[in-house]
Amino acid sequence: MIEFQHVSKQYSADATALRDVSFTVNKGELVFLAGPSGAGKSTLLKMIAAMERPSSGRVIVNGQDIGKLKAAGVPFLRRNLGLIFQEQRLLADRSILANVMMPLMVTGQPRAQAEQRARAALDKVGLGERANAAPLALSGGEQQRVSIARAIVNRPQIILADEPTANLDRASADRVLDALRAFHSVGVTCLISTHDDHVLAGAARVIHLKQGQLQNNSDAPQAEVAA
Ligand code: ADP
Ligand code: ADP
Repeated sequence: MIEFQHVSKQYSADATALRDVSFTVNKGELVFLAGPSGAGKSTLLKMIAAMERPSSGRVIVNGQDIGKLKAAGVPFLRRNLGLIFQEQRLLADRSILANVMMPLMVTGQPRAQAEQRARAALDKVGLGERANAAPLALSGGEQQRVSIARAIVNRPQIILADEPTANLDRASADRVLDALRAFHSVGVTCLISTHDDHVLAGAARVIHLKQGQLQNNSDAPQAEVAA
């Protein structure tokens, strides 16, 4: 479903974010992307969403070569992706229900249907009762769960979450992870980055990045392990 083949990314002569990274994520997998700040985790996730292009190597998502994707193809790619990135803040001037409805409204869905699906998505992250609250009335962990609801309301096949538990206390972080795991359990492929070891406890598969290089890749064929 997601395949990196010898992917490198150089932002400039002295900023290399990824070096010869190869791995595969299969449909329905839950994979954690671990590594310290600056290891290249965000860059890797952004490439899957065509927010960055590889300098060399190939990134294949759902059979499509992202490096060759034309601008017109990007919205079609992203329709299959639920993105949870720090950059995408909730809009403070409207309710969390309205925030979660937005991805459905921009694709032209009728308001009543959008509202029903957004309420169902908020229920799934445990915030159905707070639908009319303003984002700033919620805790950081609750806001992050709203971001998850907004990311999944279009029923994407893949969820990409960049440090979704950053700045959260452990209890809030656990609830955020539980919300993500619930979508994994119904078949959604999930790739979640973290620099927090606690998040990795019990993870079935972890891809470790350090200074842009793959360190190990549990459950992966030997050929994918960087020396
Ligand atoms: P992480 O998500 O693991 O913290 P990033 O992918 O954000 O890592 O960054 C990896 C490296 O690439 C860092 O050295 C960072 O400074 C650099 N980098 C990230 N984005 C850019 C950019 N837009 N321009 C230049 N350098 C960048
Ligand atoms: P509805 O059929 O009204 O959308 P569901 O209870 O089936 O209600 O889904 C609740 C929410 O969870 C929906 O908004 C849906 O977009 C979201 N969701 C995302 N991916 C999935 C999935 N793979 N399976 C079920 N629900 C999903």
